[in-house]
Amino acid sequence: MTVDLASAAARAGEAAFDTLSGRERNLGILRVQVLILSDEAGRPLSTPERVQPALATADRVLRAEAGVRVRVVGIRTVTEPPPAAALDPRANRGLVVDDLLGRTEFYRRHLGDPSAGPAAALVGSPITVVVVRRIAGHTTGCSLGISADWVITQAALFDEGDRHSYDETVLAHELGHAMNLPHHRDRGNLMFAESSPPQRVRGTQLARWQRRVVQANRHVLPGRSGDTPVLG
Ligand SMILES: [Zn+2]
Repeated sequence: MTVDLASAAARAGEAAFDTLSGRERNLGILRVQVLILSDEAGRPLSTPERVQPALATADRVLRAEAGVRVRVVGIRTVTEPPPAAALDPRANRGLVVDDLLGRTEFYRRHLGDPSAGPAAALVGSPITVVVVRRIAGHTTGCSLGISADWVITQAALFDEGDRHSYDETVLAHELGHAMNLPHHRDRGNLMFAESSPPQRVRGTQLARWQRRVVQANRHVLPGRSGDTPVLG
């Protein structure tokens, strides 16, 4: 069962959408929904309020660096206890294997998008951020790239009280992978592979070619002008 919390965060996003200025219309739109899993005892792993700063960071970074704004279409808490492979998933190749073996079926089953239209599977379909308990190894977020419409993020990333795991860049980084961005060797870049809070958190820059990749991605609805000013 999935409970729609209709969070203040999601409502604020809708309000902003209703009062678009001309400049806003020139931005592309990336729709994002968040699924917060619960543990074996049915306790949610995080809250919409905790996830909100990372969503705001993704919106700020993608607006400034890629000309795309994040529209949060829902933050939902899944109360159905997930299987172990979904609650504490493996990363990278392990996740690819698990996906092939059908162990990520739990995520897919809960992806249902309340605002999706018939054409949503083609252009502008949302990316879902699944909040899991713990990802194996030192990985805190993982994406299967363009082959999946969902990414996973570890709950501790959103726990502001935990200085050694709180990291607002990971959600945006994983959205980048889902929009076909590979890793970048510059530490100041959003797609730098490593990020170690609190001291060595990766940057949030995107290069011009990365901006073009994001704007051409099938998840992004183009802005009204068809293009946006290149910021550098
Ligand atoms: Zn990465």
